[in-house]
Amino acid sequence: MSRTPAASFDRNTVYLESLAWIPDSPHRSRIVILALTAWVLGFDLLWALSSADEGSLLYGLIDEPAHLATCGIALILVLLSGQILSRTFVLSALLASVVIDLDHLPQHLGVETITAGTPRPYVHCALAVILLCVGGLVLPRGRPLMFGVAFGFAAHLARDVVTGPGVALALPFSESAFRLPYLLYGGALVVVAGACLASTMPGSLRSARPGAEQR
Ligand SMILES: [Zn+2]
Repeated sequence: MSRTPAASFDRNTVYLESLAWIPDSPHRSRIVILALTAWVLGFDLLWALSSADEGSLLYGLIDEPAHLATCGIALILVLLSGQILSRTFVLSALLASVVIDLDHLPQHLGVETITAGTPRPYVHCALAVILLCVGGLVLPRGRPLMFGVAFGFAAHLARDVVTGPGVALALPFSESAFRLPYLLYGGALVVVAGACLASTMPGSLRSARPGAEQR
């Protein structure tokens, strides 16, 4: 039996009942996406205008909240698509989207053991995401956790490939940096935010549809 996205979202609300900060309707979700996008693009623009180095520790004050926001936007988009996400998955993804950067600490302390020869530490690679996905498939009990961490890592890498020196995605097979233009990331956020804005405007097709949820 098929179900509507709104119905799926309502089930998510019940499932994620203790996470009060998760928007409890598609309408509020789109508002949150707009706010997160404005946050990310606004601070990225300020940093770019300052011409400061993206390798400095200070950049973390801009970058880590932006990673968290990017993961949050991706999670909300998944929820809006009608998927049901467990609490463990959501929390794991959000935490992993920032915790992965702890592997930079040795480098800042002068230890290059997990950084030598690459633009970012070794955990920053596609293999880490793949191994977590395989682990989730092999170990059903740990699936929400592993899939959640994999989601968070993937969301993190999506931003890292457009900032700083890029990411050696193909580690351990290649140490070459993979770098895409920031415009792709920023443009994707703008497109998503634009779609959210259009669907929250009075008179939009979605809000005009009988029964469309506007809580
Ligand atoms: Zn990173």
